[in-house]
Amino acid sequence: MGQPYPEGLRVGSDAAFGVGNNPISHSLHHGSDSLAVIEEVIHRAYLNKLVGEEGLRIVECIPEEEITDERLAELTGISLNTVRRTLYLLYEHRLAIYRRKRDPDSGWLTYLWQLCPENFDKALQSEAKRLLRKLEERLAYEKENIFYACTEGCARFIFDEASDANFVCPFCQGSLEYMENAKVVEAIERQITDLKACL
Ligand SMILES: [Zn+2]
Repeated sequence: MGQPYPEGLRVGSDAAFGVGNNPISHSLHHGSDSLAVIEEVIHRAYLNKLVGEEGLRIVECIPEEEITDERLAELTGISLNTVRRTLYLLYEHRLAIYRRKRDPDSGWLTYLWQLCPENFDKALQSEAKRLLRKLEERLAYEKENIFYACTEGCARFIFDEASDANFVCPFCQGSLEYMENAKVVEAIERQITDLKACL
């Protein structure tokens, strides 16, 4: 019970997303700045879920032209194993392709990798729809409930929870007081509008 912060608020607040010279970033850069920021946040959230933080760094380093897994490991300083795992995950989700090339002298096989920007767009669309559903659920929750918060900032509670606890914070024994949520509602509504503009 009690939530530290409405999750929906985090969407759009994290604009610090480095954009390299990378086909995925390019495909995201159209429309207004705020749209680009939202799309980058979705992009980041989606990739983070799929390949994690390190994977995200790897994806950002993949250039438009083909690149080997070894070179990517060098560029990112991330282990070759992790680079390969990330590339295969992307491949499984049709977000990357590879081509095998045999060295005529040594006979060694080299894998040359490339991202598939057009499939990223599709994946991002469905991620945007998922986020939109979550935001709409959150908005309904904010509108349907009355909130009380610990004056020490521990957590926020809906009325029934606060009332059950006799308006005493279960974490610090401080008092729970009515908390206006109009700003939260407004922020979520703004995010929904921005997100819908991306779809
Ligand atoms: Zn407290």
